[in-house]
Amino acid sequence: MQVSKRITTLNGGGSDGWDVFYRARQMVADGQPVTELTIGEHDIRTDPVILDAMDKAAKGGHTGYAMVPGTQALRERVAARVQDRTGVSTSFENVMITPGGQAALYAAHLVTCEQGDRALYLDPYYATYPGTLRGVGAEPVAIQTHPEDAFQPRAEDIAKHAAGAASLLVNTPNNPTGTVYSRETLEGIAEVCREHDLWLISDEVYDTQIWEGEHISPRALPDMAERTLVVGSMSKSHAMTGSRIGWIIGPKDVVDHLINLATHTTYGVAGFVQDAADFALAQGDGLEEKVAAPFRRRRDITQQIFAAQNTVGVIPAQGAMYVMLDIRATGLSGEEFANRLLDEHLIAVMPGESFGQAAAGHIRVAMTIDDERFTKALETLRDFAISLAKH
Ligand code: PMP
Repeated sequence: MQVSKRITTLNGGGSDGWDVFYRARQMVADGQPVTELTIGEHDIRTDPVILDAMDKAAKGGHTGYAMVPGTQALRERVAARVQDRTGVSTSFENVMITPGGQAALYAAHLVTCEQGDRALYLDPYYATYPGTLRGVGAEPVAIQTHPEDAFQPRAEDIAKHAAGAASLLVNTPNNPTGTVYSRETLEGIAEVCREHDLWLISDEVYDTQIWEGEHISPRALPDMAERTLVVGSMSKSHAMTGSRIGWIIGPKDVVDHLINLATHTTYGVAGFVQDAADFALAQGDGLEEKVAAPFRRRRDITQQIFAAQNTVGVIPAQGAMYVMLDIRATGLSGEEFANRLLDEHLIAVMPGESFGQAAAGHIRVAMTIDDERFTKALETLRDFAISLAKH
């Protein structure tokens, strides 16, 4: 029996740079003491107060089918949060609850792209992006950003690819670069979207992790609310990765179509998870800051460790739980460096090449282990890079 081309071509062709990640996982399974700085998963678990709320909701009976668009309470809570943080008038009718940000990304593109439409995204990118775009039948078009700009996208580069495209996907704070898009960057992006009539899909799942500058949601820029779909999630903000809870914010008529799509795909999100999410959001900034604090600390540790040398370049992590290091002075590719660091020092990082072409010669470090081990691993990485550059 044949499976569909859409599914067999989902990942595109060629090497995806994830070999080192799978190799590290295998080494861990074989009992080797590998320090993993690879994926974006917190080293803390969901706060027990959130789990208590989930338990109470489940035992209280909220285990049947929940409302497909999301519970009224959670939609209103998310709408209020978004309105409060962006100043854009937002009601529950602008919100659909999704099983995580990933499902929201897929739905947002399915609702905006026709079969064969060009869907733009920025390189380096979160690993699933091109597959998500192919999955809805669109043609993914990567637009390069540049390390010398600290990976802030250039509007003129986007404009060159914009004619006839359907959508543009952006992500700030950014995975994998840690870059937070400036107001100027976002205004340039908004201008291109208005001029070329593009949908803007704005992935803001790291919006509570800001170390420098401010998070600006492009939906708040002039005339952008009507053409922007914001993807949100509680995975990163509340360490709820396993609960699979997120949302899409958009114009009411688009949300109505998204609800119809959800009726035919996910059929909504578990009611007890939604109640826990509602409880968590009601706790306000305090809980979010508590979840973000370790990454802020480790980002400062990273800056100290790399301060007094110039072999490894640090892309200043302005947000999110990652730091991107420029290791081109070692003469190795990101992939070669990551493989040797794993073999010679049992430290696993992601090669920049696993996020596209723009971050070649870089590595991404996830700041997701305790401070002491994190410090030790980065000192080892720094000394390894310096010794390579000398030879
Ligand atoms: N967008 C970005 C940029 C991410 O890094 C992730 C998860 N790593 C997601 C979306 C999806 O997150 P989730 O489905 O857990 O909400």
